[in-house]
Amino acid sequence: MHGEQRSADTRQVIIMGAGPAGLTAGYVLSKAGVGVTVLEADPEKVGGISRTETYRGYRFDIGGHRFFSKSAEIEQLWTELLGDELLDCQRLSRIYYGNKFYDYPLKAMNAFLNLGPHETMRCILSYARARAFPVKNPTNLEDWVTNQFGDRLYRTFFKTYTEKVWGISTRELSADWAAQRIKGLNFTSAVKSALIPQRVSSDGHQGVIKTLIDTFRYPRFGPGQMWERARDRILETGQAVKMGERIVRVRHAAGRVIAITTLNKRGGTQEYTGDDFISSLPIRELIAAFDPAPPASVIAAAQALRYRDYLTVALILRRQDVFPDNWIYIHDPTVQMGRIQNYKNWSPAMVPDPATTCLGLEYFCFEGDGLWTSDDRDLIALGTRELASIGLGNPQEVIDGTVVRMPKAYPVYDDTYKLHLATIRAYLAEAAQNLHLAGRNGMHKYNNQDHSMMTALLDARNIIAGRQVYDVWRVNTDAEYHEQAGIDELAEDRAVPLIPSHA
Ligand SMILES: Cc1cc2nc3c(=O)[nH]c(=O)nc-3n(C[C@H](O)[C@H](O)[C@H](O)COP(=O)(O)OP(=O)(O)OC[C@H]3O[C@@H](n4cnc5c(N)ncnc54)[C@H](O)[C@@H]3O)c2cc1C
Repeated sequence: MHGEQRSADTRQVIIMGAGPAGLTAGYVLSKAGVGVTVLEADPEKVGGISRTETYRGYRFDIGGHRFFSKSAEIEQLWTELLGDELLDCQRLSRIYYGNKFYDYPLKAMNAFLNLGPHETMRCILSYARARAFPVKNPTNLEDWVTNQFGDRLYRTFFKTYTEKVWGISTRELSADWAAQRIKGLNFTSAVKSALIPQRVSSDGHQGVIKTLIDTFRYPRFGPGQMWERARDRILETGQAVKMGERIVRVRHAAGRVIAITTLNKRGGTQEYTGDDFISSLPIRELIAAFDPAPPASVIAAAQALRYRDYLTVALILRRQDVFPDNWIYIHDPTVQMGRIQNYKNWSPAMVPDPATTCLGLEYFCFEGDGLWTSDDRDLIALGTRELASIGLGNPQEVIDGTVVRMPKAYPVYDDTYKLHLATIRAYLAEAAQNLHLAGRNGMHKYNNQDHSMMTALLDARNIIAGRQVYDVWRVNTDAEYHEQAGIDELAEDRAVPLIPSHA
């Protein structure tokens, strides 16, 4: 890591949240000799959405966390933290739709055989129609994607899965999301990549030849291992990571945050003062904790930010090999699950007994809805049934299971979020000049680990410099970044595949 050297710095930085953003900021600042206190609501686990869950020796993620980045600096930071504990993984994944498995990334022959000549022709004609009569200035996701691919392909490979993930119609989702996540991808590039055998490309950072989309890194014991190591490094420098401390109040005056109050696991409260503050808390939660309360318009804007929640049903099967993929996208509308992970295919160390398999069945939901409030036993039964119905597991093989719920897994990009975010940012720029936002929900941005870390890294650098040198809002939106990324950008879309590709 360049630039951040240990010096006699008397400043204290309070960091809210011990996910990738909070721990990256903590790590960088503590290395630079700045005093750091990281406050985390969870009583035990660091890593936030990127933590590793454990059940009877079986380890699993919230989803599946690929480690790759366009940023050489972030890749280097991962290496610095975990070294040989980071495995190189070869990606294998497919799409299940209409009783068929499609290779993902798509392969021409496989797609053709699955779709059949009649449907293939309809897809091509529908694409031609979309090119001839595109929707002018598309503002919602459906119009944006249909313009790129035509209506038929959009319905086959995009609509059902996207609606599972977001829980709202693709007409309600902002075109921004597609523009941010899949810029550069269109019918021609997708067909080209499906027809032409895999071409290797340089990652441009270390001169290593690889396709970013097909190879990624993964900690031997899951993503949480990375964040446990980051926590340990912060502690080794004598700084603090405090668990079970839920931030409930952000006291501010004269344009600055003065102190943070937490509610701890024993029900007591504690106040922390600091010079600078970094928040990776969901913005809605952060604004609700502001004292004095912000103007009504700012509170309303924060309340209007929406999130998509998530749960995973981990099923343990007494079978050595269930399927070879790391994960399978379940586009099929006949089941509720959206994706299945097979964790031993990420790292064999994720299962304690190689004769068994742990699958993570992913369900996208809203906190409080029917899925979210279902009894765990019912969810395990649902997962077992759905697994059997798509032919991937026999109910008799399921020997155990557990459920993990993750609120606010996705910040929702609806058609008003930008407006609300602008209102909140304008307020914070005046009322909390020493507060730095970072991360995914911390910025209400569809940031992956690498982006979340980069925002935190830049916040830390701004704090070290004592002025705003970097604009963290440019991370993961920078036009230049997208151009360089080209269709590789799709690889960063962990949640929603479209017509897949590899550069
Ligand atoms: C299903 C799924 C799959 C994903 N796959 C990938 C992938 O393959 N690769 C990748 O790079 N990224 C992936 N991501 C994204 C990745 O999980 C996030 O980018 C990353 O975890 C965001 O880090 P963060 O620190 O900003 O936030 P979080 O991980 O949300 O951490 C925030 C922390 O703040 C804490 N907190 C919240 N409120 C309070 C409070 N009031 N007081 C104190 N603490 C609080 C939380 O407990 C949490 O620990 C995936 C995400 C999902 C949902």
